[in-house]
Amino acid sequence: MDVTSFGIDHDTLLRGIYVSRKDTVENGVLTTFDIRMKEPNREMVMDTSVMHTIEHLMATFFRSHPLWAEKTIYVGPMGCRTGMYVIFKGDLESKDIAEIMKACYEYMANFNEEIPAAKSEMCGNYLDHNLAITKIECKKYVDEVLDCLNEANMTYPRQQG
Ligand SMILES: [Zn+2]
Repeated sequence: MDVTSFGIDHDTLLRGIYVSRKDTVENGVLTTFDIRMKEPNREMVMDTSVMHTIEHLMATFFRSHPLWAEKTIYVGPMGCRTGMYVIFKGDLESKDIAEIMKACYEYMANFNEEIPAAKSEMCGNYLDHNLAITKIECKKYVDEVLDCLNEANMTYPRQQG
């Protein structure tokens, strides 16, 4: 089984924005981003309710954005609860999405309305949301990571051997 992400050294992986993989499809390239919000195995992971609210808000942000909506293929939570996956059309690098991702996290940090699509007919677990903690987590990620991104937050550490 060749799963590229299993070659990453999670023991030294920092928070940041990483290119998880690129897939060539019929009409071009799709880039999957690792939006890593927690240092794996060294920080508390996020609650499932927070991951769920981020999923709803992030999907809303990108799917209603005038430029990014048509590039957005997928937004979803990581099973390990340390971050999100986002797939965009195009052969992209972390730098290409740093600004829009910061705008997205600022949008979530400042969100004060009803969570979009958090209704029983639109969501598989509509009561499992937590906007208050989501806002705190998003602000922390902006202040501590997205505001001061450097190469170490955009290049995967590789396992030795
Ligand atoms: Zn939902």
